[in-house]
Amino acid sequence: MPIMSSDDFSIHADDCEDVGAGMSISDLPDEVTSIDDLECECWSGFDSLEDIE
Ligand SMILES: [Zn+2]
Repeated sequence: MPIMSSDDFSIHADDCEDVGAGMSISDLPDEVTSIDDLECECWSGFDSLEDIE
């Protein structure tokens, strides 16, 4: 399940070490349309948005 950082509203994987304080979200924001929209290194292990749960 993704986590939204409460600092800068960036989206991270739930095992990301960089997110710090954040809030779990059940769905990615509508503006995220591809894995490339997720800028953090924590998404490097995912091939596509379909792999994120
Ligand atoms: Zn991250």
